Amino acid sequence: MPPDVMWTPWRKEFIMAPRSPGCFLCEKARSPAEQDPANLVLHRGQRAYILLNLYPYTNGHLLIAPYEHTAELEELEPETADEIMRLTQRGVAALKKFSQPGGFNIGLNLGRAAGAGVPEHVHIHVVPRWSGDVNFMATLGDTRLIPESLDQTYTRLLPYFHRL
Ligand SMILES: [Zn+2]
Repeated sequence: MPPDVMWTPWRKEFIMAPRSPGCFLCEKARSPAEQDPANLVLHRGQRAYILLNLYPYTNGHLLIAPYEHTAELEELEPETADEIMRLTQRGVAALKKFSQPGGFNIGLNLGRAAGAGVPEHVHIHVVPRWSGDVNFMATLGDTRLIPESLDQTYTRLLPYFHRL
């Protein structure tokens, strides 16, 4: 094995999974692990992974996505669906320790009509919430005021995934 080839068990799932060039969830999933910080990837499972949303509603807004490129939630293999839920639990646990939110909004937008930004690749949103943040955001209108950069959030949040 050449020295620059790393043991990356998740790569097998990538090769097997249907892909779509131009889909950012596929591209980040298939990027080398050393680019995970630049891609804001926090954790890689066997069939799914966790990343920070580039357009967060609140600080720490996560996306959980399968490596498989599909728009159809009901067509995910049971093992993939199981892992997506386990990673959602993991994200919630990490965020609770990271920033003590008062609650979470967790869900999927399936289809453009439901507001999905990337309708062709299913993903779960995990949005930490604090009492009063709705009023805060309503006051600001379209401006999403995030108290730190995504890179800062990534760097501070990453250790909480390693400790779980
Ligand atoms: Zn995709």
